[in-house]
Amino acid sequence: MSDTGGGSPILPGATIGCLGGGQLGRMMGLAARSMGYDLQVLDPDPACSARPIASCTITASFADVAAASALASQCDVVTLEIEQIHPDVLDAAAQHAPVRPGRNAVYIIQDRLRQKQWLEREAFPLGKFAAATSADDIADAVNSFGRCIAKSTLGGYDGRGQVRLADAAGARDAWRDLGERECVVEQHVAIDYELSVLVARRPGGETAVYPPSRNHHTSGILTWAVIPAQIGDDVSARAQQLASDIAARIGIVGLLAVECFVTTSGELLVNELAPRPHNTYHHSERAFATSQFEQLVRAVCDLPLGSTELLAPSAIVNLLGEVWLQPTAPDITSALLVPSSRLHLYGKASARAGRKMGHLSATGEDAQQAVDRVLESYRRLSPGTVASFDVESPVLPRLHS
Ligand code: ADP
Ligand code: MG
Repeated sequence: MSDTGGGSPILPGATIGCLGGGQLGRMMGLAARSMGYDLQVLDPDPACSARPIASCTITASFADVAAASALASQCDVVTLEIEQIHPDVLDAAAQHAPVRPGRNAVYIIQDRLRQKQWLEREAFPLGKFAAATSADDIADAVNSFGRCIAKSTLGGYDGRGQVRLADAAGARDAWRDLGERECVVEQHVAIDYELSVLVARRPGGETAVYPPSRNHHTSGILTWAVIPAQIGDDVSARAQQLASDIAARIGIVGLLAVECFVTTSGELLVNELAPRPHNTYHHSERAFATSQFEQLVRAVCDLPLGSTELLAPSAIVNLLGEVWLQPTAPDITSALLVPSSRLHLYGKASARAGRKMGHLSATGEDAQQAVDRVLESYRRLSPGTVASFDVESPVLPRLHS
């Protein structure tokens, strides 16, 4: 079935299929259910986070064409919460229901090198990078760029599949650590701060752009994020324009998150793209009139997009498996005493280091208060992990309007 797109809303009562049943699928499913949709998911893990929300869970790999056909044949529209889906699976699903985002956007984004080459060809601003298919290629890149990060082209996330190199001496180890497979070697960017911008787009091209989120990572994994980002109107407008230009150019239907670096010299660079809900907008359910999860449902069902008006400054902090691997249990009671704090857990039975188990969120009168509150809530929840995570309250820039 070709996705003719536009003009035919998929109304509540219909069934949304989701390739992937992790926390993003779970939160999308909660939004879908609250609007009266049914949800079915496909995930390799029979105990995936979205299972309790879905009326049917197919346990299969993201390369299983028959399983994807089975899912799509029971659904009115198919979306995804992870980009590592085999293109044949997307094609198989598309025989039965519109797949949103479509094959093209997912195909470009799912391979880091292909994604960067596409962004470069389309003249979007990027840091320097080179493709590498050997240790010598990595060494050459480091010799010409200086300090670098080598990243696997496939399958990396949350800072995994990445090796940092100060000089070419580490090239051989990096090549081995990345599994001796093709990688992208990026020049290390002198980052002032990191932003993300989320865009929603309907089949007919209607677009809604969210204000940017300011994001802080520790060892390549998101620690906290806050909205508003406390950046000037000019940077904000540039980042939003950039994100909506990319969304239109790549033809996304659904959500596109654009991760950006703002360099110490004030340049705005694209870091990477994600064709799905994004960790840095988990607080969108509190910050905006429309959460990212509801917005995804609206976009893929071709309903009018919701308002992206900011309702409340809001922040999140990620809760990784380490919180549950301490000698003492997380102090939920103390954490929730922080005004406006909320706990979100993804229903994962086993904690592993680095595994995203949930998040805390908080609102405030301004971004500083929201981030102060959420980090205070975190420090109370998990005092044993504060030494290894960067959860000191930041001093955000003050803006005068
Ligand atoms: P992932 O897919 O794991 O999110 P990213 O490419 O976004 O991978 O890298 C994770 C984080 O590592 C970034 O948000 C940033 O903090 C840091 N990082 C990645 N690439 C660079 C770079 N070229 N220069 C400096 N820091 C980087
Ligand atoms: Mg990233």
